[in-house]
Amino acid sequence: MTTTLIQLAYLIAAVLFILGLRNLSSPKTASLGNVMSAVGMLIAIVATLLYQEVVDYGMVIAGILVGSVIGLVAARRVAMTDMPQMVALLNGFGGAASTLVAGAEVIGRISTDQPPTGVVPIAVVLSVLIGGITLTGSLVAFAKLQELMTGSPIQYPGQQFINAAIALGTLALCVLLVMSPLDVGLLAAVAGAALLLGVLLVIPIGGADMPVVIALLNSYSGLAACATGFVLDNSALVISGSLVGASGLILTKIMCDAMNRSLGNVLFGAFGAQTEQAVVGGEDQGTATAYTPLDAAVIFSNAQSVVVVPGYGMAVAQAQHAVRELTDSLAESGIEVNFAIHPVAGRMPGHMNVLLAEADVPYDRLIEMDEINPQFPETDVVLVLGANDVVNPAAREDESSPIYGMPVLEVDKATHVFVIKRSMNPGFAGIQNPLFFKDNTMMIFGDAKKVVIELNDAIKNY
Ligand code: NDP
Repeated sequence: MTTTLIQLAYLIAAVLFILGLRNLSSPKTASLGNVMSAVGMLIAIVATLLYQEVVDYGMVIAGILVGSVIGLVAARRVAMTDMPQMVALLNGFGGAASTLVAGAEVIGRISTDQPPTGVVPIAVVLSVLIGGITLTGSLVAFAKLQELMTGSPIQYPGQQFINAAIALGTLALCVLLVMSPLDVGLLAAVAGAALLLGVLLVIPIGGADMPVVIALLNSYSGLAACATGFVLDNSALVISGSLVGASGLILTKIMCDAMNRSLGNVLFGAFGAQTEQAVVGGEDQGTATAYTPLDAAVIFSNAQSVVVVPGYGMAVAQAQHAVRELTDSLAESGIEVNFAIHPVAGRMPGHMNVLLAEADVPYDRLIEMDEINPQFPETDVVLVLGANDVVNPAAREDESSPIYGMPVLEVDKATHVFVIKRSMNPGFAGIQNPLFFKDNTMMIFGDAKKVVIELNDAIKNY
């Protein structure tokens, strides 16, 4: 295949990646977007394989087979609630691949004594540095989420000073490596420092902030791949890496905004150290009233509009199919039913959208926070299903609350609010929720799936 044809194939692949991403931004076109990106990747891979004069196809096929089997088994086995840690591992492996490819390129050049020129030495250093940080940072994120290590922030005196000193030392090594790109000792030193930095930067971050860290590391893995694209002079890798880098950063910003926190606060604020100790705002807030699904059936049956607010508890209980059945029967009785989606409900971006899509809830019933908030005062019944922080009115009303200023779903403005959860325990932020004590709020204690099934039966028999 001629170079021109290869470059044309890369261009087509890049256009498909961009169109794929564009389509992924809406649930209606997301499947098409997935297919487009996958076809783009196939074209890029085939073009790359044909481009290389010396490719050991046996090794390539063996790699594809082993990788596909591991990927297939992992994807089928992993529970939805464990998806964030799976993404963390995948990011880490992406970073490792970039580091290894850049390192192999240097070692190859040593044997032919051809020092890299132009921007390549800088690209090598960036690949090794960012890829290394991504690998160990992601492994720590995985270990925290999988509870293989403590989820609490690990802190010690002078931590930020030590980290800054190691970061500066690493930077100095990077400059030396750019000047002597064929020095294997320096290459190994930069790789080692990057691996150490990845660990040191992520251990002080609380387990609950790991999803944001994972989005950021996802962006890093893209940047590492982009740098590797420059090392290999592969434009498809440069473009796809930049797309991953940019979209990961945008996602990180969306998540921080939705929690009303800065990225600096997530990375250096050790969130979780203070909140895991005690339930903040746990002082006397009044009495929460417990109801049964049978009581709730009366109010649901007389409602004209119902909004379901899913949260992390729906994911834990795997209640998405049961809630779909409940909302279907309500809709059949002529009740208008919608779902209110908070951008950080659950434990990863799009968590609720994925679960509800799995249960075939129509996309047009999923309403974003900004659109649904003005509708709550006209809503008869809100069903809060395993959500807590994302419906906490303290974020609007209590300036002393740790989540004050976080945009929340204003469910307390509806006529009746039912909250399904197992206990009065707090959610992720570790703070009490005044919603549970409001006059128009009725608690139904129990596992989300079990309660929703009972509620559906009670409504049908009403
Ligand atoms: P929360 O973590 O605030 O609350 C979840 C609630 O679900 C808990 O109060 C728990 O109460 C209940 N629950 C757990 N298991 C069950 C069950 N089996 N049946 C019924 N209820 C159950 O979740 P939200 O979705 O409201 O908020 C998400 C939080 O995560 C926010 O604070 C957000 O900032 C944070 N976060 C989200 C990220 C994202 O990308 N989505 C990323 C990082 C952080 P109980 O134990 O009493 O049952």
